[in-house]
This record gives sequence, C-alpha cells and structure tokens, in this order.
Amino acid sequence: MKDESRIIFISKDQKKYKEYKISTPKLIALSSVFLILIAVAGKFGTDLLINYSHNSKIERLSRTNTVLEARLHEMTERIKAISGQIDYLASLDDELRTVLGLDKITAEVRKVGIGGSNFTIDLTDEVSGFDENFKLGDQLMKISQLEREIKLSQESFNDLFTTFRHKQDSLSYLPALRPVLRGVLSSGFGIRTHPVLRVRRHHDGLDFSAPKGTPVYASADGVVRYASWNGGYGRMVIIDHKYGFETRYGHLNKFLVRPGQTVKRGEKIGEVGNTGLTTASHLHYEVHLNGKPVNPQYYYFEDKILNEKIVSN
Ligand SMILES: [Zn+2]
Repeated sequence: MKDESRIIFISKDQKKYKEYKISTPKLIALSSVFLILIAVAGKFGTDLLINYSHNSKIERLSRTNTVLEARLHEMTERIKAISGQIDYLASLDDELRTVLGLDKITAEVRKVGIGGSNFTIDLTDEVSGFDENFKLGDQLMKISQLEREIKLSQESFNDLFTTFRHKQDSLSYLPALRPVLRGVLSSGFGIRTHPVLRVRRHHDGLDFSAPKGTPVYASADGVVRYASWNGGYGRMVIIDHKYGFETRYGHLNKFLVRPGQTVKRGEKIGEVGNTGLTTASHLHYEVHLNGKPVNPQYYYFEDKILNEKIVSN
C-alpha cells in the first residue's frame, strides 16, 4: 500500500461522493501551512483587540487629564484669591491694631505665620503633560503658608478683642460724668485763698455751688471705699475706681451708699449740702490718679445733654 491518505467528500443525501488522494508528507505540509495561517490570524486579531483597548484607555486618561488640568488651574486661581483676601484682612487687622495702640505685625512675621502643617517641597511632584506645568508641591506649600497666616490673624484678633474689652472696661472706670448736673462751678483746681480759713492754699478739687438736696452722682463705675464724716469735708464719700482712679465727694447733706458697695456711673450716691468747713451749700469734688489729686475738669464732659443721658441710663 502506498503511503498516501484519502480525503472523501460525501453529499448530504449520501448519493454522491468525491475522493482525493494525497500523500502523507503533502498532507502534513498542508496542515502545517493551515495551522500557521490560523496562528497568524489569531495573533493579528489579538493585537487589534489590545490596540483597541489601549487606545480607549489613552482616550479615557486624556479626558481625565483635561478635567484635572482645569481643576488644578481653578485651584491655583482660588489660592491666589484667598491669598488676596488674607492680605486684605491683614491690612484691616493692622488698622485696628493702630487704633487700639498695639504694634503692627510686620509683613515678614505675617508671611511666616504660626503653626500649620510642616510641608516640605518635593521637586519630583511636578505635573507635566498639561499645557502649563503645575508644581503640586508649590501649591501645597502655598496652602500651608495660608494656614499659618490665618492662624496668626486669629491670634491677632484675639489680642485685639482682649485689648478692646480692656479699653472699654477702663473707660467705664474713667470719671467722665459731671457729679452734679446743674451746679455752677464756683471754685477751680489749684492755689486759692480758702473762703473760710482766708489762707492761700491748694484747692485739691472743684466746688460746684448747688442748692441743698441736689443729687450727687458717681462719676464712674467703682466701689465705695468711704462714706462717713471726715472733719472739714463734712459728710464724705470716696469711691475707688480701677486703673488708679479715686473720686471724693465732700460737704454732702447725706450719702446714700455704704463702704464696699459697687456703684455705676450716674448712680445717685448722695445730696449736696454744707456739712464741714463751708460757707454755703456746694459739692467739693476731687479726682485722684495714682494717689495724687488731679484736675477733675480734664476727665468729665461739660456737655449737659450728654451728662443727663448718662444719668438717665
Ligand atoms: Zn472745695
């Protein structure tokens, strides 16, 4: 028998058939060519598929890139805007500090700020492949600097608030009210001839002539230290105020407060009288600052309407 193979094709109804004879080496060669063709086609198809998925991945990444670029650009712009706003707040802060007598914060100190995260710049995290280069490290540095500037501003605002409260407080202890509303100033502060003793001596306060019984008001907030008879001063009230101030009210017909009592500016503490060494009914009023008598006229407002408003409040 010859070394040959047969390939037989049979029709569907099995009535016809065709027979091909082929030698075995030829069959092997043909089969090999067929298999190689299939392999090549397969490889080609797979490459096509891979290429397709690769391209769609690139397309997706490119879309993501566009979005990221836009967002990064937006972020940079926002950082700039916030930085501008912080600078504006810093200028307001400086103005307030000047008004309240605090030292300005120098630009260098402001830029350093306080606290915040310690971010060190990494030169490798530059984002390229965009139309413009974004240094993410720079952006983060800027944000961390803004954080520190904001913290410094917060501290400064706390300072401002404390100082303001302190000033507001100290104002309420300033003897800013005229102690009698309608009394006529009959004797000033300084050297004068004493009306009773007829000798030249220093008058440590002011005299307001007013009818007996005219209300006498505390000129500032404070605590009553003394309310009693005091020799030539007659019935006298002494009020301690904070910040070194003390006020004294002499020749009172009567007093309405007792030692240790807290009084508010404008509160009635007594009535004008002529007790002690006097020739007529009047209020002797002294202001002491850090233990020394000072001219009370430097501290109270002459404006009648303002004084009346303070008393009626
Ligand atoms: Zn006097």
